[in-house]
Amino acid sequence: MIARIIDQLKKSRTVLVASHANPDGDAIGALLATGLALKTMQKAVCMYNESAIPAVYRFLPSVHQIGHKMDAIGTYDTILVLDCGSLERVGSKASRIKKGRTIINIDHHVTNTKFGDLQWIDPQACATAEIIYRVINLLDLKIDSAIATAIYTGILTDTGSFRFSSTNQQAFAICADMVEHGTNPYEVAQHVYGHYSLSRIKLLNLALDSLEISPNGRISIMALTQDMMDMTRTQEEDIDGIINYARRIEDVKVAALIHEVAGNGRARRQYHVSLRSDGDVNVALIAAQFGGGGHVNAAGFSVEATLADLKHKIVELSETTPGLCEMN
Ligand code: AMP
Ligand code: MN
Ligand code: MN
Repeated sequence: MIARIIDQLKKSRTVLVASHANPDGDAIGALLATGLALKTMQKAVCMYNESAIPAVYRFLPSVHQIGHKMDAIGTYDTILVLDCGSLERVGSKASRIKKGRTIINIDHHVTNTKFGDLQWIDPQACATAEIIYRVINLLDLKIDSAIATAIYTGILTDTGSFRFSSTNQQAFAICADMVEHGTNPYEVAQHVYGHYSLSRIKLLNLALDSLEISPNGRISIMALTQDMMDMTRTQEEDIDGIINYARRIEDVKVAALIHEVAGNGRARRQYHVSLRSDGDVNVALIAAQFGGGGHVNAAGFSVEATLADLKHKIVELSETTPGLCEMN
């Protein structure tokens, strides 16, 4: 399968590279590294993401090459979908992409639906950027400092700065190699983690204030509403990382951050839920029960519900998940 992917990329002239909407550092890093590398092979490349690039990633060299539009899907020989557990994760253009000629699915989510014509899915990979590093090497392409910094950023952010359980030997080996190829780790850290807008700190304050802990102390839930986002003038990207405060609390095994995506004025609203766990609790299993997915220790889903029902259900499902249920 890997050989076929490499072969397909070699023979393609036009390539659309896409990653998931509301991108994180891996979705952007993997997309950018792939796009820039394929361009060195003189291919016509379109780097696509549905959402705006979060402010903290706008320093990445050549990041402006990522666009929010694509040509007619038939014009691309190959469509590379990166860091998406399911094709729907690319956003509103998923049904259009589905009609593409050859779809390659490169990802590291355990819950990957194996969509597309060719797949390279490695749940052991610390980031999709790790797999992209291997693709670039298999294609025998040169890694310049822009590609190196994109790969480094993908790995740094998806491993939570080398702290999450996804941190493997490859994370360190590849990042060391990327530093050799021109990445400045201090500069990346300063951009990604060094400065927060005042708005973001105010949002964090509201999130901390919303914190609830289950009676046995093992589940923590924070909730952010659209009103809170409006009040603090924040956007979706500002929520990134806040859940870690809920996860870090002593004795907490599962942390949830619920955020209202769209209020429709009624009691039932659209929510995105982020789940994180420490150790042995598999939150991808919990997310899957709501139609979402992710990794063992980091997963998510979107749902229409009332806030009270949603909290209740998260606690109920978490309590019966292996790793937690034995503790009761
Ligand atoms: P988040 O909490 O949104 O940062 O997502 C945590 C992990 O779960 C990421 O690896 C996402 O790719 C995955 N994830 C989030 N939302 C969904 C969803 N609706 N469906 C499938 N996977 C998701
Ligand atoms: Mn991602
Ligand atoms: Mn990823």
